[in-house]
Amino acid sequence: MKKIGLKILGILVSLIVLLQSTIVFAAADTSALESEQNKNKEQINDLNDQKDQVQEEKSNTQEEVNDLSAQISDYQAQINDLDSKIDDLNNQIEESQKKLDEAQAKYNENKKLAEERLVVMQESGDTTYLDLILSSDSITDLISGYYLASELAEADTELLNNLESERQEVEKAKQDLESKKKELDTSKASKQSITTQLQAAKNEKTQRVAELTEDEQKIQEQIDELDEANKAIDAKIQAAIQAAKAKQQSNTSNKNSTSNSNSSGNSSSGTSSSGTSSASGSVSSSGFIYPVPAGYQKITTGMYYSSGAYHGAVDFGTGGINGKPIYAVADGTVIVSERLSGSYGNYIIIMHDNGLFTLYAHGQDGSRTVQVGDRVKQGQQIMRVGTTGNSTGPHLHFEVRTSPGKYSNRVNPKNYLP
Ligand SMILES: [Zn+2]
Repeated sequence: MKKIGLKILGILVSLIVLLQSTIVFAAADTSALESEQNKNKEQINDLNDQKDQVQEEKSNTQEEVNDLSAQISDYQAQINDLDSKIDDLNNQIEESQKKLDEAQAKYNENKKLAEERLVVMQESGDTTYLDLILSSDSITDLISGYYLASELAEADTELLNNLESERQEVEKAKQDLESKKKELDTSKASKQSITTQLQAAKNEKTQRVAELTEDEQKIQEQIDELDEANKAIDAKIQAAIQAAKAKQQSNTSNKNSTSNSNSSGNSSSGTSSSGTSSASGSVSSSGFIYPVPAGYQKITTGMYYSSGAYHGAVDFGTGGINGKPIYAVADGTVIVSERLSGSYGNYIIIMHDNGLFTLYAHGQDGSRTVQVGDRVKQGQQIMRVGTTGNSTGPHLHFEVRTSPGKYSNRVNPKNYLP
């Protein structure tokens, strides 16, 4: 009977070793995938921050561009106004040039006439002063002749003087117009130079907006890629969970066929130091039994320490618990069985068929009797109470989680125990 049991056990062990790799892979892969996903999410948050900054700078720069555009069109309107004023002045200048030419021509003509008249007077012998004197019969004649000549000369002189002053007036008016035009030209040139500067600034800022738009697009692409990656990881996690469940089920049915001989073999070794006792007792509505033997089931520390700090577990630390067996609270598959130098010390995590996970910590060195991938029965001894890792004295630190490897998914074990 025992020989057959051992033989079956041997077959079972090799079967477990086969299955184990898949289960280990599924369990380990999921947490790796989850941490990759979390890293991606952190990166997405960072990128979103960057995107916000880029968008803020972009909208500020765009506002500056709009402001510059408004200034440029303002200056452009002023330049257009100046242009039309300059056009007006050019017309006026042209007109006054015409008047000036006319005045000059009139002056020249009258001057010529006056000169001709003098020549005629001289030639006719009537009106030159000398002729006048020589031809005068009397002083009265001379005086009247002189007056006539001088009156003529005076009239000519006056006309010419008038024409000259008229010409000068026209010329002065033209000069005024020209200096006014020069002022407008200067003003226009300065406004044009400001416009050029504004245009350059606007071009620069428009270029910056284009760059920022490109940055924004690149960041968005990265965010999209990470989102895609996380979706792909989601799919992988789901597949891994499905695979783990499928393996677990086939493992269960394999074990069930041999569980009778297995458990009888185990229980026969009793309380030996190799540690394979099993517990029995009342079962909670969640299907859990106590993880420690009767007499040690008092919870000595709850979800919160006496200091008020979060504990996330219950401790069983009744005096004399050191070395007592720790039992699997329900059927399940071992997904972690390892020794940490600090923290939990020797600890085990079991994935139960109801989707919950239980964690058992601070076990004695060398007392872990289950490995990753092992199928455990409710009440099966998995370890003995100790004080390894971050522990001040022998106790069992017991956690219930709704998801493996996540502290945020710890729930109060009290609600799941009998
Ligand atoms: Zn604890």
